[in-house]
Amino acid sequence: MTKYQVDQQGFFGRFGGAYVPEILYKCVTDLQEAYLPIIESEDFRREYRELLKDYVGRPSPLYYARRMSQRYGCRLYLKREDLNHTGAHKINNTIGQILMAKKMGKTRIIAETGAGQHGVATATVCALMDMKCEIFMGKTDVERQHTNVERMKMLGAEVYPVTTGNMTLSDACSEAIRDWCCHPQETFYIVGSTMGPHPYPDIVARMQSIISEEIRWQLEEKEGRDYPDYLIACVGGGSNAAGTIYHYMDDDRVKIYLAEAGGHGIDTDHTAATMHCGTEGIIHGSRTLVMQTPDGQIKEAFTISAGLDYPGIGPMHAHLAQSGRTKILAINDDEAIYAGYELTRMEGIIPAIESAHAIAALKKLSFSADDVVVLTVSGRGDKDVKTYLNNKESAKEYGNF
Ligand SMILES: *Cc1c(COP(=O)(O)O)cnc(C)c1O
Repeated sequence: MTKYQVDQQGFFGRFGGAYVPEILYKCVTDLQEAYLPIIESEDFRREYRELLKDYVGRPSPLYYARRMSQRYGCRLYLKREDLNHTGAHKINNTIGQILMAKKMGKTRIIAETGAGQHGVATATVCALMDMKCEIFMGKTDVERQHTNVERMKMLGAEVYPVTTGNMTLSDACSEAIRDWCCHPQETFYIVGSTMGPHPYPDIVARMQSIISEEIRWQLEEKEGRDYPDYLIACVGGGSNAAGTIYHYMDDDRVKIYLAEAGGHGIDTDHTAATMHCGTEGIIHGSRTLVMQTPDGQIKEAFTISAGLDYPGIGPMHAHLAQSGRTKILAINDDEAIYAGYELTRMEGIIPAIESAHAIAALKKLSFSADDVVVLTVSGRGDKDVKTYLNNKESAKEYGNF
């Protein structure tokens, strides 16, 4: 389609592909052959659109943030994915993938989760569609994200704590792939971000592309033109960013800034800034940028934000960044905390700590007064209130809490 889309072989430039064990080969090629005809079928489109509207609550508002606009000297619009059912953008993707699983005759759903947001979004659509749901989650995350584990269980999912490696997201992905190898026939693996073997990065980007599809007509309504000057989003694996930029990737009028998690800083060992610190390698089925030691051991990612805690990045984003189409900013923990308080006090919106990384990017850019800036608030911050309060010294300008 365009130079930033996936090619016939499943690559974005030099990144991507499908590096899977032989036992999954048939599964993956079946999916490669099935996904586009399904996504383009009338049946699928009708069901998907209907659920996005009546179940998820789309379109999500494009909100003109008056006070923040004044502060940053631009016309700032927030794309409110935080208002979706289950509190983030992840449900756009899980709805689409479960419809796909049903059309392919699969009876069992598996998924990986880090913070638990993708696990909850998957367990939710499994309840909706009456499908068996099993979730892999690092033991460390099971302990620190207890509420989401309880939500998944209440929704009827089985949650398996993973005890290999660092017991976090990356290990949960490996375990989900291992399970998939054991039950390839009946299982559909719902991948949570623009990662994994082809065609997953393309599937997830297409499911999230509803975000920029809406931005286009919402901007036309509000500004009389259907494109912004700037797009800003945070990146973990890359799904909310992919959705935000999907319809604008080839539009050179639109500058794109993505915020990855710097943790304590990109010059420290405590970082999740894959595009700043990663080198080429293969992780979870695709060639991309990976944080790894010189001999190829995956390094643990570190950030205050559980949803950005991944040592890889989607191949689409590795390509966009390396070709210079997107600019990548590393946002440190303290900058994200500050930005989270700022949005809360200036607009009455408590953002997810992941989304606060995107807000923090505003401070690093300079705008002219009539620049139209669209920033995606990927999720709500209810899950992060404790983290904000425990780190409130980063935001002392907003008062004593
Ligand atoms: C999971 C998550 C992210 C990071 O994932 P992407 O695939 O990069 O979008 C960001 N924000 C929120 C609220 C999340 O739940």
